Amino acid sequence: MKLTIVGHWGAFPEVGEATSCYLLEHDGFRLLVDCGSGALSQLQHYCSLADLDAVIISHYHHDHIADIGSLQYSRLVDQQLNRTNQPLSFYAHAYDQKEFQKLAKPPHVLSFIYNEKAESKIGPFRITYLETNHKAKCFAMRFEVAGKSIVYSADSSYKEAFIEFAKDTDLFICETSFYANQDGKPYGHMNSLDAATIARNSSVKKLILTHLPHFGDQRKLVEEAKDVYQGEVMLAKKGLTIQI
Ligand SMILES: [Zn+2]
Ligand SMILES: [Zn+2]
Repeated sequence: MKLTIVGHWGAFPEVGEATSCYLLEHDGFRLLVDCGSGALSQLQHYCSLADLDAVIISHYHHDHIADIGSLQYSRLVDQQLNRTNQPLSFYAHAYDQKEFQKLAKPPHVLSFIYNEKAESKIGPFRITYLETNHKAKCFAMRFEVAGKSIVYSADSSYKEAFIEFAKDTDLFICETSFYANQDGKPYGHMNSLDAATIARNSSVKKLILTHLPHFGDQRKLVEEAKDVYQGEVMLAKKGLTIQI
């Protein structure tokens, strides 16, 4: 399984970058995880939009869905130009019916509701879910394929259940919206210590800090996390790829 970080900012993208968006690839199947602001422009550095198979959405905040409308247009255009005859499939929760209804534009874009209490199979990926602590209904995801796993926290404040959910994962992509001396809880987000505490107690093999703040020196986030978690800690970065 290959991960490419397409966008890693919280709230809004910095110049030439994107908010939350991650590309997972295995056996030629391409799954986009969230599709934030600026994501489409960045994604084309790594894959043609016509080659995307599916998109899974954690929640309906703008920094995770802002580019969905343009992605729908791109599949319409790519079909008209015969670049692909495949529809693009969106997978999302439907607790917000108004937002869910916007996802499908048949026949070129289809939408499916994932059942967070069961396992989904999207292409080669087996996916399980954990509801997070956030202002909007939001689900973290665990992706498994060929005996390897990646856990994506999506947006959340610290939640004990992450420890079981992320247990022994090969890679934990965890939101880190705040520094250690700041409390993210009132905002539904985590700080560097929250992310590192889950990583340590879950014995994850590697931790990537993402959904990064627009203030302070981000290298400090890594130092703070390393005080708690002894494994490898990386900052999310545009274009970073990791083969698991
Ligand atoms: Zn967010
Ligand atoms: Zn959010």
